[in-house]
Amino acid sequence: MRKKKKNKPKKKEIVLYGIPAAPGITMGPAYPLYDEEIEVPKKRVRERMVVDEIARFKKALVKTREEILAIHAKISKEMGMEKARIFGAHLMVLEDEVLIGEVIAKLKKEKFAVEYVFWEVLKKYIKVLSKSEDEYLRERVSDINDVAKRILKNLLGAEHRSLQDLKKKTVVVAYDLSPSDTALMHRGNVMAFVTDIGGRTSHTAIMAKSLKIPAVVGLESITSNVKEGSYIIVDGNRGIVVIDPSKETIKKYLQDKKRFAKFEKFLFKLKDLPAETLDGKEIELAANIELPDDVPGVLAHGAKGVGLYRTEYIYMNRKGLPTEEEQYVAYKEVAEKIKPNSVIVRTLDLGGDKFLSQLDVPHEMNPFLGWRAIRFCLAKPDIFKTQLRAILRASAFGKLKIMYPMISGIEELRQANDILKEVKDNLKKKSIPFDKDMEVGAMIEVPSAALTSDVLAKEADFFSIGTNDLIQYALAVDRVNEKIAYLYEPAHPAVLRLIKMIIDNAHREDVWVGMCGEMAGDATLTVILLGLGLDEFSTSPIVVPEVKRIVRSLRYEDAKKVAEKALTLSSSKEVIMYAKEKMEELVPKFVSQSLRLKDKK
Ligand code: PEP
Ligand code: MG
Repeated sequence: MRKKKKNKPKKKEIVLYGIPAAPGITMGPAYPLYDEEIEVPKKRVRERMVVDEIARFKKALVKTREEILAIHAKISKEMGMEKARIFGAHLMVLEDEVLIGEVIAKLKKEKFAVEYVFWEVLKKYIKVLSKSEDEYLRERVSDINDVAKRILKNLLGAEHRSLQDLKKKTVVVAYDLSPSDTALMHRGNVMAFVTDIGGRTSHTAIMAKSLKIPAVVGLESITSNVKEGSYIIVDGNRGIVVIDPSKETIKKYLQDKKRFAKFEKFLFKLKDLPAETLDGKEIELAANIELPDDVPGVLAHGAKGVGLYRTEYIYMNRKGLPTEEEQYVAYKEVAEKIKPNSVIVRTLDLGGDKFLSQLDVPHEMNPFLGWRAIRFCLAKPDIFKTQLRAILRASAFGKLKIMYPMISGIEELRQANDILKEVKDNLKKKSIPFDKDMEVGAMIEVPSAALTSDVLAKEADFFSIGTNDLIQYALAVDRVNEKIAYLYEPAHPAVLRLIKMIIDNAHREDVWVGMCGEMAGDATLTVILLGLGLDEFSTSPIVVPEVKRIVRSLRYEDAKKVAEKALTLSSSKEVIMYAKEKMEELVPKFVSQSLRLKDKK
């Protein structure tokens, strides 16, 4: 009797949720780029060979340096100087005297081959940094890992595997991607990338956005779920990855992809239209940037200016502090490119989760409540004045506005303005031109500032609500702690009440109010924010067209009623349900087209 052929059991699809790092939907075969374990032999060397080993080590350092400089040159040419600065961190590792000295001392003492000694020392550094509570330091681990692997491969004479040689279109899967991996990759053949680790501020996320490749980071276990050739779907809009998807899922995502492309095309048509409601209320719709290289994205998405320029990125990945000249050049470039629209330059917001290695800032128990932002700048007037001079000088070339972060009360605003006045007087004396009518505003991101916004409004030209921090302080929820992320609720009645208070207090003094936290780009809440009277929304460039579409579909008079009712609701859940209901009623095809709304885990 013939045996009945058994059907192969179907693989069950696996859905993983991560952080959407760059938008777009794509699907294809996986290319796992796992950090192949490098075999480092534990070989003894004779006393007289120690000198040769040291020479071999120094030669490998020089070779690695040459490789990194070549990548640096390639990146600056293709993606601009700012992006290339990441490699400054790599060069810093290569020049680290303490590290090099430790390797040489250990080599002399233990007499093992240099690759073994070097790897032992590096592993120790990596272990300490990976356990650091500081996110910035943890993110440096990938820089160190990347350089260490290069040095090792040069010592062992091994090939450095890179994404340059990809032969066909694939989705790159990795624990983390180093900047040099992304820099060298074959652009046409990388369809998307997905990683186990990384946050929104990681290099991978920054690179993905500027390369316009869909990406999802922070998936935690993608590398242990994917094999070479596994078919995967990457949804960079919602931060979802599906491994071995079923036919139905593929069909669904193909439809989503088509709809997304159509939606983007449709949104693109709004690019040059104003963000104006059906009954004629126009709002300012601006974009947030981190670096001058982000400006093309602002213009391409039809944002009217920059509502938040996070200047701390110019201070990162470098040895010393940026000079006044360097800052001036960067601010001037942004001012000129965004002109005639305005750019809100936020002064240095160091601290919290943004750590600068070149500044001797002690480790704190509660960094978000500690020596950060304006507090740091007021304590270090030289650093602050250098930045203010650079901004003021650049203001002669466009429309710049200054904004202070983390203002907690009137005293700080006054102190900052006193320093600004001193810098202005100095420039005047030297006949250095600057915009004398430049607006100066305060970020409202601390509850005490919100509660005293009536007082602050008398001495500020504008406010911008920093909801990322305001929510964490108002609800006592650390914004970077994933364990309590469920408590981080933008639609919490406490947050809505604070926003209303800020807007009303400002308007009473004829002060305009913007919002530059992530909440400004939360499509479900646009109707409420509009109805509360927000004058300006500043979101990441890719979200701008969607917010514009919503504003253009609403009537201000309706939005006011929605906001009024929302303020009477008692929980975040109720507010969101109500807002969704209203959006579906007032904005045509709201749910079906708003693909960027993040799914809940
Ligand atoms: C905010 O706090 O909302 C904000 C925009 O600033 P950052 O995210 O840089 O703290
Ligand atoms: Mg903030």
